[in-house]
Amino acid sequence: MSEIKKVYLCAICNIESGTCSEDCKFCTQSVKYQADIQRYKNKSIEDIVKEAIIAKENKAVGYCLVTAGLGLTDKRLDFVCEATKAVKKAVSNLKIIACNGIASIEQLKELKNAGVDNYNHNLETSKDFYKTICTTHDWDSRYQTCQNVKEVGLKLICGGIFGMGETNQDRISMINSIKELNPMSVPINFFHPNESLPLTKNTLTPKEALKLIKQTRDALGVDIRLMVAGGREITFKEYQYDIFKYGANAIVIGNYLTTNGKVASQDISNIKKMGLTIAEDCKK
Ligand code: SF4
Repeated sequence: MSEIKKVYLCAICNIESGTCSEDCKFCTQSVKYQADIQRYKNKSIEDIVKEAIIAKENKAVGYCLVTAGLGLTDKRLDFVCEATKAVKKAVSNLKIIACNGIASIEQLKELKNAGVDNYNHNLETSKDFYKTICTTHDWDSRYQTCQNVKEVGLKLICGGIFGMGETNQDRISMINSIKELNPMSVPINFFHPNESLPLTKNTLTPKEALKLIKQTRDALGVDIRLMVAGGREITFKEYQYDIFKYGANAIVIGNYLTTNGKVASQDISNIKKMGLTIAEDCKK
């Protein structure tokens, strides 16, 4: 088992929710599936800043500004830049991660100039399996965006989802593709079923899911941060802090995009009980 001593916390802010016209079968933010979630265009800058202050108080070292949709448009780009500048002005020592889908080199340069530190774009699954979970865009455009992120000198955060019915070969293929991109951090999500979605089941047991974390850590090596993001509570249940024994060294605190997470203080106290420390900053 991996020797993890320090845990990085990251918070997510869903700055535009449930407005996406793509058809990713795992995603409640698609308008095609009518999941019972909050849908809104732009969260107010005031609320985005307020949530950033709370994230910092909860020891987050990263704050992720997430928009629903295939990718950046001119309007969306302006909004993310405005939000980034407002958060940077109000809160110090908090890395800003933008997560806004497909992005060109020019758009990413603008984000960087506005103060964005890292860009999160997940490959989601293997190139082969991707065709069965999304028909409205392709895996190659996702991979290209990740390459664009590297090209403009933003730090890449790139992960995926387990538990959508993929084979172990698909998982290996996805992890290998992620590794090729040499990201600074890899967020692994565990599919959170919702009855409105075409995918309704995640059959992974907590033990299988823990093994997948180990498999991912072994493949990535020790230098890349490995985060367990969405689906932690429902997948791992009472074993959710064992993820650190299997190689994870980062989690999302607070709520996820469309589902509730734990109260941050509970996570922090449980992490400390394990003898682990909470990272105070993100030097990467
Ligand atoms: S492109 Fe993103 S927001 Fe849209 S349905 Fe797919 S995962 Fe959800």
